[in-house]
Amino acid sequence: MNGFRSTDVVVIGAGISGLTAARRLAQAGRSVVVLEAGDRVGGRTMNLDVADGVVTEGGGQWVGPGQDRVLALLGELGLRTFETYVDGKSIYHRRGRSKRYDGTIPPLSPLALADFAQLQLRLERMARTVPLDAPWTARRARTWDATTFGHWLDANAMTAEAREMFAIGFSVTNSEDPHSTSLLVQLARIRGSGGIDHIVNVTGGAQESRVVGGTVRIAERLAEELGEAVLLDSPVFEIAQDADGVTVRSARRDVRADRVIVAMSPADAARIRVAPGLPAGRAMVQRRWSSGVESKLFAVYERPFWREEGLSGQAVTDLPVARYVVDNSPPDGGVGILLTFLGTAHAGFGERWPDGILDDPAARRSAFLADLTVLFGERAANPVAYLEKDWTHEAWISGCVGSRPPGSLTQYTDADRRPVGRIHWAGTETATVNQGYLDGAVRAAERAVDEVLNRGAGS
Ligand SMILES: Cc1cc2nc3c(=O)[nH]c(=O)nc-3n(C[C@H](O)[C@H](O)[C@H](O)COP(=O)(O)OP(=O)(O)OC[C@H]3O[C@@H](n4cnc5c(N)ncnc54)[C@H](O)[C@@H]3O)c2cc1C
Repeated sequence: MNGFRSTDVVVIGAGISGLTAARRLAQAGRSVVVLEAGDRVGGRTMNLDVADGVVTEGGGQWVGPGQDRVLALLGELGLRTFETYVDGKSIYHRRGRSKRYDGTIPPLSPLALADFAQLQLRLERMARTVPLDAPWTARRARTWDATTFGHWLDANAMTAEAREMFAIGFSVTNSEDPHSTSLLVQLARIRGSGGIDHIVNVTGGAQESRVVGGTVRIAERLAEELGEAVLLDSPVFEIAQDADGVTVRSARRDVRADRVIVAMSPADAARIRVAPGLPAGRAMVQRRWSSGVESKLFAVYERPFWREEGLSGQAVTDLPVARYVVDNSPPDGGVGILLTFLGTAHAGFGERWPDGILDDPAARRSAFLADLTVLFGERAANPVAYLEKDWTHEAWISGCVGSRPPGSLTQYTDADRRPVGRIHWAGTETATVNQGYLDGAVRAAERAVDEVLNRGAGS
C-alpha cells in the first residue's frame, strides 16, 4: 500500500512551474507536497555534461528582456546570466551560396526582404487586435481560429524565401508543424511574446541570455529549498475530488489536500484520471493538445574556432539539418559548442527529412557535421564530442512546446486554465504572456498560486 500524507496543497510536476508554485505557497505559509513522475527535477530543462564541469542545456535555455518573472526568479535564487555570443558576422546560406552579414537581418533577396516585412507587418497588426486574456473575443477571432498559421503563410507569402524564414523561426521557437497550430493561437503568442523581432532575435530578443550553470539550476535551487516536500518517482495517476478536499494518488504516495495544482502541459495532464470527470472543454483541450517535438544537436570543439575568423557562429540556412545554428559555448569560451535544432516544422512545408535522420543518431550526427562543414569549413568536421537531446522519447513529457489546433480557442476559450473545483492549472501552456517559455512557466505558477491563496485553501 502507498504511504499517505496530508497537506494544504499538492503540486503535480517538478518543472519550473510546479516548483515555483510550491515555493510561493511555502512562502505564504502553506504546507505543500510536490509529486514528480520522473527521477529528476527540471522537466523540460536539463543539462548535458560536455566535459570537466562544462555543461550545455538539453532543453529550455534562453531568457531575454521582457521575461520579467523568470528574470526576477533568477535574481531571487542568486543565479546569474550571460549573453549569448553573437560578435562577428553571421552566415546566411541558401541554394548552395553562403553570404556573411552583420546585425540581425539575413541578406535575403530584395523581393524576399520586402515580402518578409509585409508578412511581419500584417501579422503584428493582426496580433495587436488580439486581447491576451481572451483571444477568442478578437473581432476576427473565428476567421483566424478556423485556419492554421502554416496555411496563412502559404496563402500570403509571395516568395518561398520569406516563407522559409518564417518556418525556421517558427521551428526553433515552437518545435511543431505550422500547419497544426491555429493562426489565432500564433497571433496571441506574437502579442504575448513581444512581437516577431523579439521572438526571433538574440540581442534584445528572447535568445539574448543564458543561465550560468544551465537553466536546470533554477529547478535544482527551488528543490533544494523545498527539501523533503519534493517526491521524485511519483507519477500521479488519479485526482479525486469530494466536498472536503482532494486525494491525489501516485505510484509512491497518496496525498490528501485542500487543493491541487497540476503543473505540466495539457497533453501530459491528459494521462491523469480525474474523478468526477473533467468538464468537456478541459477534456477536449487536453486530448487535442498538439505537442511539438524537437531534438537539440551539439558539436563540441576544443575551442570556438569560428570566432578567430570573425564569425559569430550563428547561421540561417536551407541545409537539410542545420537550419539555424548558434554558438552555445560556455561563458568563458573554454570549449566551442555549435547547436542546432531538429524539429518538425519544415517537414510541414512538404519537405522530407533525409533518410534515417529521425530515428538514427549516427545519421543525425553525420548530417549535422556535413552541414557545419559547409558553413564553417573543414575544422567543423571533427568535433571532440557530439551530444544530442531527443525529446521524442521522454516517458512523462510529450513535447517541447505545443499549442492548440484550429477551433480550440474559440470553442473552449480559457478551459486550459479555468480551475475545476479544487484543481488549478499551471505549466507554461496556461500562461497568457510568454506562453511556451520559461517565463510563462513562472507566470502560470504565480497565477495558480494567487487562485489558491485568494480562494483560501479548503474554501
Ligand atoms: C528543446 C527545448 C528547448 C526550449 N528552449 C527554450 C528557451 O530557450 N527558452 C525558454 O524560455 N523556453 C524554452 N523551452 C521551453 C521551456 O523549457 C518550458 O517552457 C518550461 O521548461 C516548461 O516548464 P513547466 O514547468 O511548465 O513544464 P515541464 O518542464 O514540462 O514540467 C512538468 C513536469 O511534470 C512532470 N509530470 C508529467 N506527468 C506527470 C504525472 N502524471 N505525475 C507527476 N509528474 C508528472 C514531468 O515529468 C515534468 O517534470 C524549450 C523546451 C525544450 C524542450
